[in-house]
Amino acid sequence: MKISNQKIYEQVADILIEKIEKGELEIGDKLPSIQKLAKVYGVSNASIREALNALRMIGLIEIKHGYGTFIKAKHPQLFDFSHHTLNAQRVQDILELREVVEVSTAQFASIRRTDQDIEMMEYALQEMKDAIKEGKSGEYADLKFHLAIAKSSHNTLLYELLNNISDLIQQTMEGTRKIYIYSREKTMEKLVDEHHQILEAIIAKEEHKASSRMALHLAEVRQTLVDNYIVEK
Ligand SMILES: [Zn+2]
Repeated sequence: MKISNQKIYEQVADILIEKIEKGELEIGDKLPSIQKLAKVYGVSNASIREALNALRMIGLIEIKHGYGTFIKAKHPQLFDFSHHTLNAQRVQDILELREVVEVSTAQFASIRRTDQDIEMMEYALQEMKDAIKEGKSGEYADLKFHLAIAKSSHNTLLYELLNNISDLIQQTMEGTRKIYIYSREKTMEKLVDEHHQILEAIIAKEEHKASSRMALHLAEVRQTLVDNYIVEK
């Protein structure tokens, strides 16, 4: 027998997602209060809050402060291509460029990083953890972390290259996170851990480990987007 290690809030989120997709809850409908939902599902208020947060992040509900929580869409809005700077080809191009560039920034950073660089990278990682704790998806901090590594490579051109497309990178990160949250392929904890591993290798000046861990991190992002038909193999 397979033992489910799904968290309580994920189970609640799944129930609500199914209700929305089946049309039992329709767009514009107001959800019962957190306290009421907690009673209905026999779980804590905190679990309901977490479940609603996950639903909000994938665009299914909208929380209007002072009014309540409303159904916003029937299906999750995982990748918003309505934004004119992003389309499937763009996402693919960005990923390829990141793989080429960031394997090197991680390598150079592990050779050249200063104590100040380490502080900057640690700070960004801490921000990512804090954001996730607050129920946010933390892609801005994620971007900051990758830019901090690029800066620590002490190659100004590599840094500028990434910085110039940072808006686009952040948009792809946002979409990827929505897929993670929706598909449960990866928890935010696991995502933070991947970054930890990269940073550890950089601090330890292990250049091969740093670049291979960065490659692995970016390859997983790519696989997620391939699995969800966002980009081609
Ligand atoms: Zn990352």
